[in-house]
Amino acid sequence: MREIGHWIGGAQTPGTSGRRGPVFQPATGEVQAEVALADPGEVDAAVSAAVKAADGWRETSLVARARILFAFRELLHRNVDAVAEAITDEHGKTLADARGEVTRGLEVVEFACGIPHLLKGEYSDQVSTNVDAYSFRQPLGVCAGITPFNFPAMVPLWMHPIAIAAGNTFVLKPSERDPSASMLVAKLYAEAGLPAGVFNVVHGDKTAVDALLDHPDVAAVSFVGSTPIARYVHGRASAAGKRVQALGGAKNHAVVLPDADLDNAAAELTAAGYGSAGQRCMAISVVVAVGDAADGLVERLAARASAIEVGPGRAATSEMGPLVTAEAADRVRGYVERTDARVVVDGRAVTVPGHENGFWVGPTLLDGVSPSSEAYADEIFGPVLSVVRVATFEEAVALVNANPYGNGVAIFTGSGAAARRFTREVSVGMVGVNVPIPVPMAFYSFGGWKDSLFGDTHVHGAEGVRFYTRAKAVTSRWPESAASDAALHFPTAR
Ligand code: NAD
Repeated sequence: MREIGHWIGGAQTPGTSGRRGPVFQPATGEVQAEVALADPGEVDAAVSAAVKAADGWRETSLVARARILFAFRELLHRNVDAVAEAITDEHGKTLADARGEVTRGLEVVEFACGIPHLLKGEYSDQVSTNVDAYSFRQPLGVCAGITPFNFPAMVPLWMHPIAIAAGNTFVLKPSERDPSASMLVAKLYAEAGLPAGVFNVVHGDKTAVDALLDHPDVAAVSFVGSTPIARYVHGRASAAGKRVQALGGAKNHAVVLPDADLDNAAAELTAAGYGSAGQRCMAISVVVAVGDAADGLVERLAARASAIEVGPGRAATSEMGPLVTAEAADRVRGYVERTDARVVVDGRAVTVPGHENGFWVGPTLLDGVSPSSEAYADEIFGPVLSVVRVATFEEAVALVNANPYGNGVAIFTGSGAAARRFTREVSVGMVGVNVPIPVPMAFYSFGGWKDSLFGDTHVHGAEGVRFYTRAKAVTSRWPESAASDAALHFPTAR
């Protein structure tokens, strides 16, 4: 059995803990490799490699660091297909979808290439007589990233290009379900000239995560995953004195007003609900149909959901692949089995000829879902779209705002006034107007509100740069004569 080891100090490093986890091919159900699961000693080796590289890297000039990021950008661009194939084979999503996530990650690398501009400080001349003041930002040291299975390339790329460009070293603990994309990224960084130890990958489960959260040499932790683990990571790493941003789960609503173009809304919501088999933190999982929009919308959604081509991610004809594991597929089917809503399209029995052991669940549409049901309350994280019917715009906004999650939301309408009011009143971090998956571009910052993010800094964009650096303010005087006017009272500007 092929074993996937760690990447520590610039080299592939076999696991030594004796613990390994299965890596499935979700389209066939086979175990295709085993991934090493690190023990605290192996985590310490990765952090130590990052500590060793930290001084040299932070002293490397801004321009030299940016040039390595430019070289990495070129290599990643040339290897989009190779990284996408690794994602498809372990996650299950279609190749087109995997290419899309690598491309969105690449955009963060492009943003990080501008680090000399992003790190420009402030300067005030003559704040007091013969006194100047300035501020600048410095790296934190060793930063850690802990990431989920659903975007094995893009979510880590939200973090490490900016952390590294800013002069930090990095230890990534990717999801143990799809570890290979991170190993390819590590090789590309090395090829781009990044010194050994600046970027390290350690695979593992809770044991490895806890070792990172407790490690005294880790200065900051970026986490993306489910809400219970995000809450836990935020609490434990904060208690250990680290800077933490922990992004959690979601239940993203799309509000459809009666004046919306229903054909367009149905097309967009089908893509946003069933793309990647619903395993996106920004997937639309609840359609809030307002008033007269409901019947026409459900009819259109049903027709589109039934027409989706389900199949292996590598097949050019597939529009939707399998779920990541057999447990995930069982869990999703369980929600459909237990619901008392109307099952308009039922994907439970879907299977793919020649791939009977794959982790399949077909597109599923539930209508008349009650806000008090588990299908509404839980993040199902599968290809299940729930339609909730409400009478008014106000009811729709109240429903969205009562939800404990606040990652993404969308409104479909032909009215600019309704859209403006919605974007202002809704308690959600990322809002789309006739755009169902409003993932901000790399030069804006990504993050939800409420139970979708613990900490106060979003990822990438300007907030990403702030997260991975700390500010220093300097007050400076170069007196022209030796005479001092120091006095014991508290100094004020003169
Ligand atoms: P997960 O929370 O199970 O795992 C995330 C990471 O935490 C993995 O690296 C995993 O190894 C580790 N982990 C798991 N259990 C742990 C434990 N008990 N203690 C310590 N570490 C643990 O999430 P997942 O299933 O890999 O990913 C799907 C979830 O991620 C969904 O909830 C999705 O909404 C969320 N997500 C959120 C965003 C966002 O931007 N808010 C983006 C992508 C995914």
